[in-house]
Amino acid sequence: MEDTYRHKGMRNQLVKQIAHKGISDEKVLEAVRAVPRHFFFDSAFTEHAYDDKPFPIGSGQTISQPFTVAFQTQLLEVQPGDKILEIGTGSGYQAAILAAMRARVYTIERHRDLYKKSQQIIDKMGFKRIQFFLGDGYEGKEAYSPYDKIIITCGAPFMPEKVLDQLKPGGYIVAPIGEGSIQEMQRWEKQKDGEFVKSSYGNFSFVPMIKGKH
Ligand code: SAH
Repeated sequence: MEDTYRHKGMRNQLVKQIAHKGISDEKVLEAVRAVPRHFFFDSAFTEHAYDDKPFPIGSGQTISQPFTVAFQTQLLEVQPGDKILEIGTGSGYQAAILAAMRARVYTIERHRDLYKKSQQIIDKMGFKRIQFFLGDGYEGKEAYSPYDKIIITCGAPFMPEKVLDQLKPGGYIVAPIGEGSIQEMQRWEKQKDGEFVKSSYGNFSFVPMIKGKH
């Protein structure tokens, strides 16, 4: 794995594009600039790594579009030291972006192959603040709860109840919610009394959140 000036140049272009599309949080843009997205691609496809598009990563899954990763990350308002639960590790790219922003990341994937592959890549990159779990995201990860922030990166038909219980008061959960091929990006903020204040941020299309491990 090599990160050349050419790759860095392409990343700078990508950052300009997503800034133009509405990402304004400089810390998010800095993380996209810092994390080599091509490390998450098979070597035959690395020329696609800096297009602002999703891309297949095997097991019928995709690495999310860079704009979408940045958009969800911006909604999380990540602070250094935040403890963040991610549901849907996939390639591991989103987890790397959060770790680059100095969050402590707990990430769950239901596909064994992706769980293994993402871990290998992240280990090679040297990130220390990411822990990987094979499991069903509908259960969350109670052992390490509560979390400051939670991010779901697959299309959830509804907000999973158990996961909501694992969020700290004052914390956010950001998730694409919807049953069909289109989901609505939602952010729910947990109040001190345990109630949620909900906001919506437009339509996106994710691979579905599926029950059980694979
Ligand atoms: N964050 C990823 C996006 C991957 S796509 C990235 O940066 O690449 C969404 C992922 O969610 C897929 O890998 C899919 O297998 C996973 N997924 C779907 N349902 C799940 C569930 N119930 N629990 C955990 N992961 C799930």
